[in-house]
Amino acid sequence: MKRLISSFVIAIIAITVFGQDMKYTHKIIKELASEKYYGRGYVNRGDSLAAEFLSGQLSEIGLDNYNGTYFQRYTTNINRYLIKPQFGFNDSTLVIAEDFIAIPNSANVNGKYEIEWITERTLTNPWALKHFLKEDHPESFICIDSTGLNNEELYNFANIIFSKNYINAAGVIEASSHLKYTARTELKEYVHIQVKPEKINTKADSIFVNIKNDFIEDYETQNIIGYIEGKSDSIIMFTAHYDNLGMIDDIMYPGANDNASGVSMVLNLAKYYASKRKNDYTMVFVLFSGEEAGLLGSEYMAENPPFELSKVKILLNFDMVGTGDDGIYMLNAKEYPQVETLFNKMNEKQKYFDVMHCSGASFSSDHAPFYEKGVDAVFVYAAGDNSNYHQPLDKFEDLTFSAYKDIYKFCIDVVKELAK
Ligand SMILES: [Zn+2]
Repeated sequence: MKRLISSFVIAIIAITVFGQDMKYTHKIIKELASEKYYGRGYVNRGDSLAAEFLSGQLSEIGLDNYNGTYFQRYTTNINRYLIKPQFGFNDSTLVIAEDFIAIPNSANVNGKYEIEWITERTLTNPWALKHFLKEDHPESFICIDSTGLNNEELYNFANIIFSKNYINAAGVIEASSHLKYTARTELKEYVHIQVKPEKINTKADSIFVNIKNDFIEDYETQNIIGYIEGKSDSIIMFTAHYDNLGMIDDIMYPGANDNASGVSMVLNLAKYYASKRKNDYTMVFVLFSGEEAGLLGSEYMAENPPFELSKVKILLNFDMVGTGDDGIYMLNAKEYPQVETLFNKMNEKQKYFDVMHCSGASFSSDHAPFYEKGVDAVFVYAAGDNSNYHQPLDKFEDLTFSAYKDIYKFCIDVVKELAK
């Protein structure tokens, strides 16, 4: 009974302690997803405003920095749209971000174009396909027709042909039920539009499109890095990207799950280790920019680390950890059998997650450039309803935080296990 009471008291204390941290978590995510930071992209220097706020957090937590600053600056080319791209079939108009999206490496265009429909026959008749692929189509936009839309295999096949524009069309229209905006560092010579399948007017014979780019060369952005010196110079790295997709005109991409959630996890861990007198390892906390434009920040840091990469014992990267209702993915963990074994052993014993998948090589987040440099780097991802991914709907209100506290505890325990 006494034991029961004391473990009950401990549980209450644990809940209260993390109760406060959840308050902090919510505060950080709401702040980053707010209009103050313009979607943390390349409009109104949203990324840099967020960086100012976050370096303030590292300073408040009491982290040390390298070379007198929490920033690691670098430059990139980046494209953005300052006016809303317009697009429609015949004389109708579709709504950007709801019905269609223009991939932001699309060329500047303004005008009417004929549509060439890709039919089932084009795709299934080798002669017709060869003929279609052999010719350039510089005056047309290419789009799949309804027979193709209703056949999954053809639909996927056509989308592959379109998205690469092997046929030198003026533009390609890709059918996609999930419209995902993104960020790009170069401009293509054609227009790439994604349209919801139900919004494709297969009777139309023309489209109109108006896209105005604002291509910026040598845009300055920055990673953020702080550390706590430990008993050993062996390093544990916790990382997350803080950038998101910015804005298209007045439409903001708040990026609450992607990846204000991961940033809050890194900050929570930083607070935890800063509260300890002396940690076994040197703890390094990194917030990257430029992830959405192609892992720019993490690539830069993996090339220019302010410490020796060979000292890194493990890197845990958090990208989208605000849900977890469908379990946890430890991507890249299978690349390191000893890490996979440790994770599974710990989860069997402590039951952090009902479902934890350790999977193989992954290049889809900021752990990848470090993995390529020989660092043991794992990407922690909480699976759940991600239908809002890369959409203006990625908001704080939809986060369930189902796995959040367990990820936090798991990470702390991983570090303890490694130190044994
Ligand atoms: Zn992300």
